[in-house]
Amino acid sequence: MKEQLKEVSKNCYTMVPKGNNIEIRVYLSQRLFNEFTEDESIFQLYNASLLPGIVSPVIGMPDIHTGYGLPIGGVMAVRYDGGVVSAGAVGMDINCGVRLMTTKISTDEIDKEIIGKILKEIAKKVPAGVGKSSEIKEFKKPDMESIALKGAKYYVEKGFGRKTDLEATEDNGCIEGGDISAIPQEALNRTDQLATIGGGNHFLEIGKIEKIFDEKLASEFGLKKKHLYVMIHTGSRGFGHQICTDYTNIMWKNSDKNGVRPPQKGLACAPILSKDGQNYLKAMACAANYAFCNRQLIMHIAREAFVDVLKKPESELGLDLLYDVAHNIAKIEKHKGIKLLVHRKGATRALPKGHPANPPCYSETGHPAIIPGSMGTASYVVVGTDKIEETFCSVNHGAGRSMSRKKARSEFSKKDFRKQVGNVIVSTSNIKSLLDEAPLAYKDIDEVVYTLVEAGLTKPVARLKPLGVIKG
Ligand code: 5GP
Ligand code: MN
Ligand code: MN
Repeated sequence: MKEQLKEVSKNCYTMVPKGNNIEIRVYLSQRLFNEFTEDESIFQLYNASLLPGIVSPVIGMPDIHTGYGLPIGGVMAVRYDGGVVSAGAVGMDINCGVRLMTTKISTDEIDKEIIGKILKEIAKKVPAGVGKSSEIKEFKKPDMESIALKGAKYYVEKGFGRKTDLEATEDNGCIEGGDISAIPQEALNRTDQLATIGGGNHFLEIGKIEKIFDEKLASEFGLKKKHLYVMIHTGSRGFGHQICTDYTNIMWKNSDKNGVRPPQKGLACAPILSKDGQNYLKAMACAANYAFCNRQLIMHIAREAFVDVLKKPESELGLDLLYDVAHNIAKIEKHKGIKLLVHRKGATRALPKGHPANPPCYSETGHPAIIPGSMGTASYVVVGTDKIEETFCSVNHGAGRSMSRKKARSEFSKKDFRKQVGNVIVSTSNIKSLLDEAPLAYKDIDEVVYTLVEAGLTKPVARLKPLGVIKG
């Protein structure tokens, strides 16, 4: 389908298939377009465009690659009245997301050995790897009712964080409408993974702020060149995964009853206002709130590790939460005056300055969007520009894979992996399981980020460079 795409403005390719007025739009630089081989992902956007209530365009971000139902790097907006919600279009890892902490610690004051010590302290309490459950007894059997209703606030009130953390979390760390009666039993049996990173590309990373692009914004965000940062990327773990699996089955089974049969099971969906649709949104909110708690608890443990190792009070170290933002979620939002449900799957919301849904601390700047790259290259902090409404206020969520996990595992040896990560400290129990995380298995983060910068949608604020990472 790639050949049907036409560049209509800088880095913006579109097509409007016959018989359907919904535009398929993909943002790619010339180089990303030339290298693009993910035809299946464009077909997935096309399938999504056939669903009831879809609002044009269906969008692929520059980090697009084939996913389950909707591609990763996909944005699908539907009218709240008359539209559908799809569990697969939110993704398996509900509210997978990223949070970034700034610090007052300059890399001039600290050496590699200390970073290794801090990572080791964190890793003692925060396990990484597929299927790992909480190390801390208190988190093994959480009060799901409180998590569903309060999100991250529940743990902040218990002393796991600061009140200001909530102001720097999307939706204050709580999606409203969580109701545990909508959670299938199987998922309720999988709630023992709070304060765990998980496997694959989930991580905790310590790095340094390498470059500032916008001095004014960076200073308002507290991003200082050479200072350390901590980035946490994880989601709702097995709990969210189970909810996605179960609701995909429910929606698929009830397709005829609900009057919507999508072209593929991965896009199984139900009218938003139907019983299945509403129940999914209730369960999704529970998983999203669980994920906010997960990242909050990991951040709290990381703060303690910094204090323990550096033997300085938290206030002296900074360790302020810059922002926490989801990249797998469906949200009720108003665009051009219409109430929509925006599915972002591997896409990050980036509200521009002046947007009323910004947290008050970012109303004058737009909130930071955090874009991880890879464990050996770089990551970015960007903000959305005035043009960002073109994408329903969405940007890419990462570099995106350039190679399947299978291909990366067959292509790279442990030696290749070491070479690609350079002198970044890697804390893991199993290097072999990380071969598919080698930096060359991802697209070039600079190219991906600049695709949207050149399209006029984002403004870079800072470039971040990893120094050490915990990964499963
Ligand atoms: P996903 O949400 O699709 O699981 O991954 C988000 C993005 O994280 C990936 O597209 C990739 O660019 C980025 N990423 C994966 N591993 C790492 C890492 O160890 N460090 C950083 N900074 N980014 C990573
Ligand atoms: Mn993610
Ligand atoms: Mn995830």
